[in-house]
Amino acid sequence: MATKKEEMLREGYFGDYGGRFVPPPLEKPLQELTDAFIRLKDDYSFNEELSFHLKNFVGRPNPLYFAERLTDYAGGAKIFLKREDLNHTGSHKINNAMGQALLARDLGKKRLIAETGAGQHGVATATVASFFDLDCTIFMGAEDVIRQEMNVFRMELLGAEVVSVESGTRTLKDAVDRALETYAKDFENSFYLLGSAVGPHPYPTMVRHFQSIIGKEAREQIIETTGKLPDYLVACVGGGSNAIGLFHPFLEDEGVSIIGVEPAGEGLDTARHAASISRGAPGIIHGFKCYTLQDEKGEPLPVHSIAPGLDYPGVGPEHSYLRDCGRINYESITDREALETFQLLSREEGIIPALESAHAIAYALKLAKELSPEKTIIVNLSGRGDKDVAQVARYHREEL
Ligand SMILES: *Cc1c(COP(=O)(O)O)cnc(C)c1O
Repeated sequence: MATKKEEMLREGYFGDYGGRFVPPPLEKPLQELTDAFIRLKDDYSFNEELSFHLKNFVGRPNPLYFAERLTDYAGGAKIFLKREDLNHTGSHKINNAMGQALLARDLGKKRLIAETGAGQHGVATATVASFFDLDCTIFMGAEDVIRQEMNVFRMELLGAEVVSVESGTRTLKDAVDRALETYAKDFENSFYLLGSAVGPHPYPTMVRHFQSIIGKEAREQIIETTGKLPDYLVACVGGGSNAIGLFHPFLEDEGVSIIGVEPAGEGLDTARHAASISRGAPGIIHGFKCYTLQDEKGEPLPVHSIAPGLDYPGVGPEHSYLRDCGRINYESITDREALETFQLLSREEGIIPALESAHAIAYALKLAKELSPEKTIIVNLSGRGDKDVAQVARYHREEL
């Protein structure tokens, strides 16, 4: 099985994926960041402080919850939910934001820069900026500023400056370009805080490192509860950070089957999905190589998912590699299935999941039905659904 060892052969690569394809002005700051990350990730006092904040500010460890009513509903394998939805700010994104912000502070940076599409990563970044008393500039496409009004207000409340980007398609892609441009000009003073396991080296490795707390906790918790490792792990895959965070500590356990769930949108055979692995091909996007949905000219295709955190036309390089190795299987779930599961989990368990997480739960339900009750499945409940309630209500009105 090809996993951690081979990835180390070429720094910043997972097999042929990953790397760092950036304009020359970004080479130096990204190398500086790589060196700092490698130096600090095993530093005793850095890790002590990070653990302290994860416990006292974020609320870790969060429970591994046995979803008894959901399990009864499926009538098969036992379903456990890793409760990232209970973290401060409502999702797994804060784990990584906290780690990177601590790194920024130790490097003497005074400002955090980030881009955000739906606003969830922007809120997590604005939160840790406030926590460490750093300035914060969030770039957001002008279209997204209108669509995500509430999150814009949240970021501003937290003290961040939200820059509305009016160029191009006025969405995430243009916000990324502006944020990188700003970073290239001001890297002496600023830190670029990336929100998923994507982008040029060292981000995929660094984000996975900070998110692996999910899998480390889950591993201890399931052994404590059931006395053994789980049979299956399931998580949704946008850029792939909550998934790789849960999966990574189990990669060498051959008895554990691992499934990443991509957004099939209105169907894999339509143009309206964001299933980069299931329907994409290897290519370069935003400074790294991965499975991506592109046109013949190598431009990212427009993508769609009902879950705002999943509509990205690429995926982490480590996922791309693990797919080729056959270590992880990638499946997909449609908008409709995710919506049904959003309601189902709310009714059965009293937990309103994020629409992103509902993709993982929907797949886990299908899987559980096929398995016997001795089997166990851990599903990453990556976030809470409060942010999605208004949108879901709108969908239901349209259907009526
Ligand atoms: C952003 C987000 C995701 C998708 O991002 P990954 O990097 O793939 O984890 C999934 N769930 C929630 C709740 C999110 O906010």
